[in-house]
Amino acid sequence: MRPLNDILTYCNEVAFDLNFTYAKKWKTEKSNRALVGFLPIYFPREIIHAVNGLAIGVMGAGDHKQIIKGDAYYQSYICHLPRGIIEMALDHSLETFDGFIFPAICDCVRNLSGMFKLAKKGQFQRYFDYPQNFDASIGGVFYNQELHKISEDVFKVNGVKLTTENLNQSIKLYNTNRKLIEEIYNIRQEYPWRLSAVDTYKIVRAGLSITVENHNKILEEVIGNITEESGEPMDNIRVVINGSFCEQPPLGLIKSIEMAGCYIVDDDFMLGSRWIQGDVEDDTNDPLGALVNAYLTKSTFSSAVYDVGNPKGKRLVQLAKNRNADGVIFSAASFCDPALLDRPELQKECDAVGIPHINFQYHENTGQFKVIKEQAGTFSDSIKLWA
Ligand code: SF4
Repeated sequence: MRPLNDILTYCNEVAFDLNFTYAKKWKTEKSNRALVGFLPIYFPREIIHAVNGLAIGVMGAGDHKQIIKGDAYYQSYICHLPRGIIEMALDHSLETFDGFIFPAICDCVRNLSGMFKLAKKGQFQRYFDYPQNFDASIGGVFYNQELHKISEDVFKVNGVKLTTENLNQSIKLYNTNRKLIEEIYNIRQEYPWRLSAVDTYKIVRAGLSITVENHNKILEEVIGNITEESGEPMDNIRVVINGSFCEQPPLGLIKSIEMAGCYIVDDDFMLGSRWIQGDVEDDTNDPLGALVNAYLTKSTFSSAVYDVGNPKGKRLVQLAKNRNADGVIFSAASFCDPALLDRPELQKECDAVGIPHINFQYHENTGQFKVIKEQAGTFSDSIKLWA
């Protein structure tokens, strides 16, 4: 088992490598491999894995790239993520990718998929719609057809057919991945001082840039490291972060919240990796149906999903209670319509049960955290003094 510091150095390297060196090297090692980029939030990577592909999360350029051309592609009053991604594409960072998947989340991503099409990036550019109807005979049938289209897209690239056996095997690996990530969150719930939220973030994010087999090994090593006591408990409050599911906050922002006296015991930073709650059936004659069923019945909540009958406000409150959190921090990307439109409803639910909350907005390349740190610090102090 490698020491935690070595693992973190590696995760930091692969998670923020905007040239995707690991993935590109992986592709060259065998002839019929396919490299597929996908955007936030969730995409069932199992289906790409099963056809000899590697699904890579394209989570934005963060504060690692100066945006010049990207600004010319978009109006000023939208979030930052699409500008960073188009800049990466125009700078040829995504050059050896075979295709791209744009999960339907908002109009900005829809437009981005069109730009990739016009710029002829990859052999396919799939705008990937999710069912908003959770009836298996309606939304389920639709989703099944959408998944089929993806496997056909990859087949045209590498000639590998989706088989029951391969998909079952891929589902098994991703079940393990989700289980291990959840175990890390559960250990952190009890002992948040053993692994900071920033480090957790790097570890989970690294999984979007490497193979699932490699990531599972890393997660096991992390668990081995944090099962033993290390560090010192601090007099911090415990918070859940909500609203950062797409454009990712800069590391400095997460660090600032922690340094202001908050243990982040749950968050939606890398929500796609934790989207399915529990296992997908992995020993079945219809593994595609199992993925569909998992999406319909085991999805987490998010502003990107229609939630009639299962309101996200109540689910957020439940999450805060499960994590024994003292408060919720609503932290969304500036101009993020889905997150900001939902926020009042979520706040109302928190108010109804007396969960304190604060909110702020960020850009993925925000460089000043002083105000956010002061705000989070005051929040922490007020809870310690008066809650
Ligand atoms: S950050 Fe929000 S508005 Fe921007 S692309 Fe993501 S979901 Fe859409």
